Amino acid sequence: MSATLIDGKKSAAKLIAECSEQIAELTAQGITPGLAVVLVGSDPASTFYVRSKSKKCKELGIHSVKLELPAETSQEELLKVIDDLNNDTAIHGILVQSPPPKQIDEAAIIAAIDPAKDVDGFHQVNVAKLVLEDSSGFVPCTPMGCQRLLMDYGVETEGANVVVLGRSMIVGKPMALLMMAKGKGANSTVTIAHSRTKNLSEVMRGADILIAAIGKPEFVKADDVKEGAVVIDVGINRVEDLIDDRGYRIVGDVAFDEVAPKCKAITPVPGGVGPMTIAMLMANTVKACKQITG
Ligand code: NDP
Repeated sequence: MSATLIDGKKSAAKLIAECSEQIAELTAQGITPGLAVVLVGSDPASTFYVRSKSKKCKELGIHSVKLELPAETSQEELLKVIDDLNNDTAIHGILVQSPPPKQIDEAAIIAAIDPAKDVDGFHQVNVAKLVLEDSSGFVPCTPMGCQRLLMDYGVETEGANVVVLGRSMIVGKPMALLMMAKGKGANSTVTIAHSRTKNLSEVMRGADILIAAIGKPEFVKADDVKEGAVVIDVGINRVEDLIDDRGYRIVGDVAFDEVAPKCKAITPVPGGVGPMTIAMLMANTVKACKQITG
């Protein structure tokens, strides 16, 4: 079988174009969406992600505030920053780049963000809204991006057996909730697998749609995948590669070369889910702006 390559860059560009149209409508009303990204410390990967987010905002004409705080920032100081952003009428979306340094209680910081500005979708109120299928809430960007890829590529999700590999609050759990919800791009029969799942390979082989989000390089092998399955690879893993100038390369959670020939469709890494995450963040920021100002 020759698999369709699910092109995340293409889908992300489409989504960004939709955001652009909505931003133009807001601008015509004198409204500029604003996103504040808070980074505590200077973790290189986090710094890279924060810069990419700010760059995308600028490209789209979203007012972008990048707050880079020292690694020693205390919980109280960070709470004060969040409070100021909650009260700043030019800001409609707030996110605190994860992971923060050890002295920071991340759960308390997320809880302090105004849920109406929680464009990462991590606040309890937004988690509850996802469970309740209340569309005014914010859903974490990566699982939303995965669902959008399935929809863009016309993958039938209704009644499909979806296996979500991983149960994190950022990807696995919201992904499962999205796919089991009523509606377009959902209505699936969902199984969540994790590190304690028995007969994991057999569980994965039952998937019409397999969504892998475990952070283990090339973990999913050809034998774990049913012929004709659709595979969404969320993983971003660095593996040593002495031939590459950087000394490493990025691979997903799926052994692409051996799995792809069995699939109906599959996302590459990089160029699959990754570009969708940042595009969804822009979409959530526009949504927050419309809800706050509307
Ligand atoms: P977490 O580490 O928070 O969660 C990993 C999950 O995988 C856990 O539920 C864990 O199970 C499960 N798991 C780990 N090892 C195994 C195993 N051997 N067998 C079965 N299940 C296992 O990771 P995240 O959800 O944050 O991220 C997952 C991957 O997705 C990472 O590679 C990350 O870099 C990537 N990612 C990509 C994004 C993108 O934009 N493309 C955005 C966010 C993440 P248990 O709960 O039992 O420990």
